[in-house]
Amino acid sequence: MKLFNTLTRRKEEFVPLEEGKVRMYVCGPTVYNLIHIGNARPMIIFDTVRRYMEYKGYEVNFVSNFTDVDDKIIKKAIEEGVSAQEVSERYIAECRKDMDAMNVKPATTNPQATQEINGMIDMIQTLIDKGYAYPAADGTVYFRVKKFKEYGKLSHKNLDDLQSGFRSLQVSGEDQKEDPLDFVLWKPKKEGEPSWLSPWCDGRPGWHIECSVMAKKYLGDEIDIHAGGEDLIFPHHENEIAQSECCNGKIFAKYWMHNGFLNIDNRKMSKSLGNFRTVREISEQYDLQVLRFFMLNAHYRSPLNFSADLMEAAKNALERITDAAANLKDRKNAAQTESATDAEKELLTQSQEFVKKFEEAMDDDFNTADALAAIFELVKFANTNVSEESSAEFAGSLLDTVVKLCDVLGLKAVKKEEILDKEIEDLIAERQEARKAKNFARADEIRDELLAKGIILKDTREGVKWKRA
Ligand SMILES: [Zn+2]
Repeated sequence: MKLFNTLTRRKEEFVPLEEGKVRMYVCGPTVYNLIHIGNARPMIIFDTVRRYMEYKGYEVNFVSNFTDVDDKIIKKAIEEGVSAQEVSERYIAECRKDMDAMNVKPATTNPQATQEINGMIDMIQTLIDKGYAYPAADGTVYFRVKKFKEYGKLSHKNLDDLQSGFRSLQVSGEDQKEDPLDFVLWKPKKEGEPSWLSPWCDGRPGWHIECSVMAKKYLGDEIDIHAGGEDLIFPHHENEIAQSECCNGKIFAKYWMHNGFLNIDNRKMSKSLGNFRTVREISEQYDLQVLRFFMLNAHYRSPLNFSADLMEAAKNALERITDAAANLKDRKNAAQTESATDAEKELLTQSQEFVKKFEEAMDDDFNTADALAAIFELVKFANTNVSEESSAEFAGSLLDTVVKLCDVLGLKAVKKEEILDKEIEDLIAERQEARKAKNFARADEIRDELLAKGIILKDTREGVKWKRA
């Protein structure tokens, strides 16, 4: 398996630090609003990376944070007259709903910045003790960038060039820096802001220190993959490297993965252009599986353009897969014969070619567009070869392969409703039989099974009625 490493600007063979295990950190959103489709891209991409790693047999420890203390959260809290915590908790809950609808697997751990303040204070203290950081007179703690000779290695920026670029840059309130390149680790609180006690001042952490601390706590000093949007390469990830490597004395992350930008109608997404789209808005128009398909149908490192036409095309393309899967399911259920014939067995062997193509595409830096192309070839093969005469084993086996490959990409090939309608009717009929036979235990069991799937049964005078919860 090869992946493109931003650090070396090359595709490299993936070799984990510990055999069979992957330690992965993805920078998560700042929670002050509903997530937008730019936030959705890294969520979908790196969830797919994780799913493929798991498919390959790796045990993945997947950590992604919520930044729940930040200027924007505080601003929103003041506007609404509520606490910053109330704002962040609300949008964490909303974000989880959107992630679930996009079929993004829950992370192993979702740490929140405000729960990890002690770790941040400890790391800042270590950096001060080692001479990599210093408190200014007003209590702000800065990282001493020039002391870390490798600064700029991820973004491939030269310290001297950065120096001349930054010379004219004066950030108000940061005039006690030793050097314009130095960045904030801890800052004093302003009136009305959430704050924590520290050895330097009553205040709050800078953004970059969060990720260094949470990665260290939940994954260790050295991790396999650190990922995020390409806008995070500089300065966020560069600063994370500086903090972690100076504190821990070890290489922070072996591989750095970054997804490309997302534009809307060929323009940068921004509130001022009026083309800002939240995931929630998209979900009112489409099943978010369509959004997921749309994002995976491009290479993750390329810029991606979002438009209504492209979403329509994605919807139609995804339907070709789900229609084929539904057809395979029907063929399987209605088959006259159970076992595959020799000719069918030969075709099943042939169909493994598409699985191989799929894996080759994914092994080549997660080329999900080519992986989808392999699924379409498989679907075409199934449509051509499965008929009313096919055995249940043949149709079922092709269906399983389609479902399995789609699942690696987080796509549900079989629509839930299509399974359920027939299943519900069958189970209700079975329950009626059980009751007639006075087998009430089985009847209750079926009721519970349906309830677990969100189906509520009601016994009426006209018979059993059901509805979705
Ligand atoms: Zn981060």
